[in-house]
Amino acid sequence: CGIVGVLGDHEVSPTLVEALRRLEYRGYDSAGIATVNKGTLDRRRAVGKLVNLSDLLVHDPLPGKSGIGHTRWATHGAPTTGNAHPHQAGPVAVVHNGIIENFRELRTELREHGLSCTTETDTETVALLTQHHLAQGLDHVAAAFATLDRLQGAFALVFLFEGEDDLMIAARKGSPLAIGHGDGEMYVGSDAIALAPLTDRITYLAEGDRAVITRKTLDIMDEGGAAVSRPIKTIQIDA
Ligand code: GLU
Repeated sequence: CGIVGVLGDHEVSPTLVEALRRLEYRGYDSAGIATVNKGTLDRRRAVGKLVNLSDLLVHDPLPGKSGIGHTRWATHGAPTTGNAHPHQAGPVAVVHNGIIENFRELRTELREHGLSCTTETDTETVALLTQHHLAQGLDHVAAAFATLDRLQGAFALVFLFEGEDDLMIAARKGSPLAIGHGDGEMYVGSDAIALAPLTDRITYLAEGDRAVITRKTLDIMDEGGAAVSRPIKTIQIDA
């Protein structure tokens, strides 16, 4: 339901939770964040209000300067901690808005590769498929793009990887996604409102776009893989 991402120059857990708070108006049943800290990918998730997630983070902090976050409105699978996003499969974590229509077919295929789902969600197949592509030797961008090529349905997705604290991959198809430009930082949000305290410089992804994001670069490709340029707009939203 709500997506945020930060490649920061500071500890991002509080920033992620604050950005998610700005998306609360959309409604949600659970929330979670994942970070990369000294190469290690880890996550915290909680059912219910964001305060449950922030309480959890007080007792069990999640360090790291790169991270993604999500507020979930369940479509597939009950609103449990296990079904909350981010979904992680080995070295990859993803947050997802929307529905992966062909997740059953992908599940069957993944099982043939020896990878089984541990949640009830459609989203987990995205993480598992990307893990599979990485295991086949594809680099991070190629692995995520190979996954995106297989997805049917409506989605906004952000990928974060173990060992890569300067990389997020984002994609939109049928669900909006905005990239925020900071000063040596980069952000992602399903709504620019989430990013308002961080930046007013926004690039909106167009339908089918895929973005490779680092702290200093933003490369956007259309669905066919051709490099495209999207404008940076200066927007006015009350922080
Ligand atoms: N279909 C996904 C799920 O149920 C994402 C739902 C959402 O957009 O929050 O986990």
